[in-house]
Amino acid sequence: MDYELVIIGAGPAGLTAGLYAARAEIKTVILEKISPGGQVLNTDWVDNYPGFPEGLSGFDLVDKMRAHAERFGVEIRSAEVSSLAGRDTGFELALAGEKVTTGAVILATGAHPRPLGVEGEAEFIGRGVSYCATCDGPFYKNATLAVVGGGDSAVEEAIYLTRFADRVYIIHRRDKFRAVEFIAKRALDNDKITPVWDTVVEKIAGREQVEAVHLKNVKTGEPSVLEVNGVFSFVGLIPDSELVVDLADRDDIGFVLTDEDMRTRTPGLFVAGDVRHKLLRQISTAVGDGATAAFAAQHYLENLLAR
Ligand code: NAP
Repeated sequence: MDYELVIIGAGPAGLTAGLYAARAEIKTVILEKISPGGQVLNTDWVDNYPGFPEGLSGFDLVDKMRAHAERFGVEIRSAEVSSLAGRDTGFELALAGEKVTTGAVILATGAHPRPLGVEGEAEFIGRGVSYCATCDGPFYKNATLAVVGGGDSAVEEAIYLTRFADRVYIIHRRDKFRAVEFIAKRALDNDKITPVWDTVVEKIAGREQVEAVHLKNVKTGEPSVLEVNGVFSFVGLIPDSELVVDLADRDDIGFVLTDEDMRTRTPGLFVAGDVRHKLLRQISTAVGDGATAAFAAQHYLENLLAR
C-alpha cells in the first residue's frame, strides 16, 4: 500500500484530518486539485472562528492550518483524483497518469457555488458574473452591483462589496434574509445596500459586459430591469461528492450521509466538512469533522492492520 490514509481535499476539514492523522503517525497524504484552502480562500474576513478575537483573513487562516498540518509531517500533493474504487483491502485512486493505493480514505472535497441557472449567466462569467467577491470585488470601484441570494454568503459578501461599489442591491426571492440575524442587521444598516425583496433574476443582459438584470417580483409578477455593472451570485452550494457515488449514500442534493463518526456505508471511507450532509456548514464544524474522521480512520486502520 502506498499510504495508510489518503485525504482528498485540503480545506479546513482535510487539513485538520491531516494534522490529526500525521500526529498519530499514520502515513498520510492530502491530495488537493487546486491549492490548499478550499472555499475559505474566497472569504475576505473570518469573524467567527474561535481563538482569533479580532478575526483574520480567510487566506491567513488556511495558511496557518496548512503550516500546522505540515509541522506534523503530513504530505500535501497537488493532484486531481479522477476515480476512487474499493479493493479487497483498502482503496485505489486514479490520479493523472498514476494509481495510488491506501488503507482508508477521508473525502473532504467541499462544495462549489450553485449556478443561478438563468439566461446570460454562463455567457457573462468573467465579464460581470462572479461567484467570488474577494476575487472580483476590487474590479468594481464605484460600480452598481447586484448580489443574488439571502443566505450568510450573499449578505456577508454584499457587505464586503460595499468597500468598492457605490450601490449593492441584494436580490432575494423572499422578504427576509436566511442569513443569521447579526449579519442580516449589518447589511440592513448599511446605507450602500438596498434589498430587493420577493424578487428573482430572470435574465442577465449586456453587450461586452453585464449591463442589467431582468427581474420579476414573485408576489405581483411585475417585471423590472435594474442597470448594474456586475452580478455576484450566492444561491447555495453543490457538494463535490461524485467520487463516492457508488460507495456512499447521498441526500437528494448530493451531500454525503455519514454516521456521527464520519463513517459511510463503505468501511474505511470517511467524509468530513461541507461535502457532508449536516446542519451547520462552518469552518469550525469542518475542523470538528476532520478531527473525528481522522480519529475514526485511525481506529479502522488499527483493526485492519491487526488482522
Ligand atoms: P444557503 O445558506 O443555502 O443560502 C442560499 C440562499 O440562496 C438562500 O437565501 C436561498 O433562498 C437562495 N436561493 C437558492 N436558490 C435560489 C435561486 N434559484 N434563486 C434565487 N435565490 C436562491 O447558502 P450560502 O449562503 O452559500 O451558505 C452555505 C453554507 O455556508 C450555509 O450553511 C451558511 O451558513 C454557511 N456560511 C457561513 C458563513 C458564516 O458563518 N460567516 C458565511 C458564509 C456561508 P431561500 O432563503 O428562500 O431558501
